[in-house]
Amino acid sequence: MAKYIFVTGGVVSSLGKGITASSLGKLLETNGLKVTLMKCDPYINVDAGTMNPYQHGEVYVTEDGAETDLDLGHYERFTHAKLGSANNITTGKIYYSVITKERKGDYLGKCVQIIPHITDEIKNSIKHVAHEQNVDVVIVEIGGTVGDIESLPFLEAIRQLKLELGRDYAINIHVTLVPYIKAAGEIKTKPTQHSVGTLREIGISPDIIICRTEKELHKESREKIALFCNVDKEAVIPALDVKSIYEVPQMLREEGLDRLVVRLLNLKCDDEDLTEWQNSVVKVVRSPSKEVPIAVVGKYIIHQDAYKSIYEALSHGGIANDARLLIKRVDSEDIEEHGVEKYLSDVKGLLVPGGFGHRGIEGKIAAIRYAREQKIPFFGICLGMQTAVIEFARNVCGYEKANSTEFDKNTKYPVISLLEEQKKIKGMGASMRLGAYECVLGKITRAHQAYRKDKIQERHRHRYEFNNKYREAFTKAGMVFSGIYPKDDLVEIAELPQHPWFIGCQFHPEFKSKPDNAHPLFREFIKAVVLAKYGKE
Ligand code: GLN
Repeated sequence: MAKYIFVTGGVVSSLGKGITASSLGKLLETNGLKVTLMKCDPYINVDAGTMNPYQHGEVYVTEDGAETDLDLGHYERFTHAKLGSANNITTGKIYYSVITKERKGDYLGKCVQIIPHITDEIKNSIKHVAHEQNVDVVIVEIGGTVGDIESLPFLEAIRQLKLELGRDYAINIHVTLVPYIKAAGEIKTKPTQHSVGTLREIGISPDIIICRTEKELHKESREKIALFCNVDKEAVIPALDVKSIYEVPQMLREEGLDRLVVRLLNLKCDDEDLTEWQNSVVKVVRSPSKEVPIAVVGKYIIHQDAYKSIYEALSHGGIANDARLLIKRVDSEDIEEHGVEKYLSDVKGLLVPGGFGHRGIEGKIAAIRYAREQKIPFFGICLGMQTAVIEFARNVCGYEKANSTEFDKNTKYPVISLLEEQKKIKGMGASMRLGAYECVLGKITRAHQAYRKDKIQERHRHRYEFNNKYREAFTKAGMVFSGIYPKDDLVEIAELPQHPWFIGCQFHPEFKSKPDNAHPLFREFIKAVVLAKYGKE
């Protein structure tokens, strides 16, 4: 039977609960245990797919096509867990399911209530993940901050679940902030005490408290937290700020976190170490031998989390090439206003990520033109590929004002357009081409060189496609379609062999990159960037 670790957060949001949960997952895996992780989000959207990246950050897409919270990206990057739709539940999803059952008559005669019907639905969803994924440990992260009205049903559900399962089968970890007050020159434990107090009011006593802090947590503070929050001293784990998120597992191990979890849950496991991760990831992140400037030109640039997996995958490409990336985040609308030279003349690579809507499109096209003409390595992802196609159509094929029908319905040259079946779709939720699809790679192409395989599977999240009507003309003009979805003959990858490195892909490779196993396209892109700066080795 699986064991459960419930992770809650206190005091403030953005504490890094997701990184903490992922790091613990990583540590337990190095102990030989099979883990999975899940996220409970208290918002009413059924999934993250309908939310703007400004509101919620990136929408992370799983292999089975679920549009999920970005924390699932951390879970997959740190561990080997295979996540899917079931690993992310929301208030909306839970209510949707309960209300559907009510309409069907499943609760006939009963008054349907938050307790027990909503809480039972939450508990069943959590148990379902443990059962289906056949793991030793399920780490369940509750989104939001303790004290929020919205998260109460989730907290009640995990309280009940822990009671049902018994001592050896479930523990609670509470992640809090221990702020440093500069004027007093002291760190303060009071917010943690209050937050744990709030948890205890609803019947949950944490077994472990992880204290996020920018200054060292001295013995007296640890003792104070232990005393006031009713936990053992060794269960107060300091989590100091670190430079790279990939340093967190080792830091938590040094503070004894996984040993304590193994003991509390009475887990049978081997005693392994993190040496490989430390050597292949952390060492390179700390002191790479090279440094290369690249630009990411997008629309949601000011939001830290909007392109989360893109930035992570880029850093993995850096790790694979022993390089630190100096990423210049450029708003494509600024390029429209001030011209491209100002932003791109000093970079050695350009990445244009995915996106939706018309705003900033012309800036992206100008940036891609610059990279193509100046022979700067270019990587376009989803909308990045579509804009590369538009640029090529206009400036190489001579199709004046060519466009995607997403931005100009009446364009004379709809080089990117909707498939017939997408035209019929009315609703917005989960209605795109989503999740993993097969792609066949052309021999002797850059794509094949990167993957070293004939067939791959990559994740999608888009509606528009390359318009096959133009394939021949593009091919004649020098674009190679090196990846195809065979079933419907759709373009998945386009590249320019005459250019040092110019690839656009319709899918999202960033979702499958890992720090210790960089995605082949990111690895090769950064290799080309390093080559552009340092020349041949
Ligand atoms: N807006 C484009 C489409 O729907 C691209 C989507 C994306 O970049 N994820 O096809």
